[in-house]
Amino acid sequence: MEKILISACLVGDKTRYDGKSNYHPLIKELLQKYELVPFCSEVEGGLKTPRKPSEIIKDKVINSEGVDVTKNYKAGAELALNICKYCNIKIAILKDGSPACGVHQIHDGHFNGRKIKGMGITASLLAQNGIKVISEDEIETLL
Ligand code: SF4
Repeated sequence: MEKILISACLVGDKTRYDGKSNYHPLIKELLQKYELVPFCSEVEGGLKTPRKPSEIIKDKVINSEGVDVTKNYKAGAELALNICKYCNIKIAILKDGSPACGVHQIHDGHFNGRKIKGMGITASLLAQNGIKVISEDEIETLL
């Protein structure tokens, strides 16, 4: 079975900043065709759950208290890439809108709920290294 890296929160892990998940209703169907490898860049990069929300501001990731957490996001992204390399993973399904996993959009950096076009740190690194990165809204294209 082909392996796919997937945002851990999409399979039901409570890794979101607020301690909740983003469980996706098509996970069971995906599991019939693929081996899913859940991964959370924020947690693996050393951040606790729950945690303050973070947003990308220029070339940094800053949390809502103004703390620079860029190194955590970069570390998580590198680990995600390493897993893809070691496990020969060519596809990643990532939660859109996240400063780590965002595929098509991210928050605008003002903590006001607005989103803009852009990619999260992990999504961007994986895409740069030839991994096909899709959002949870595109899961049906794999079924
Ligand atoms: S970093 Fe990705 S996997 Fe982790 S909680 Fe955020 S969106 Fe989900």
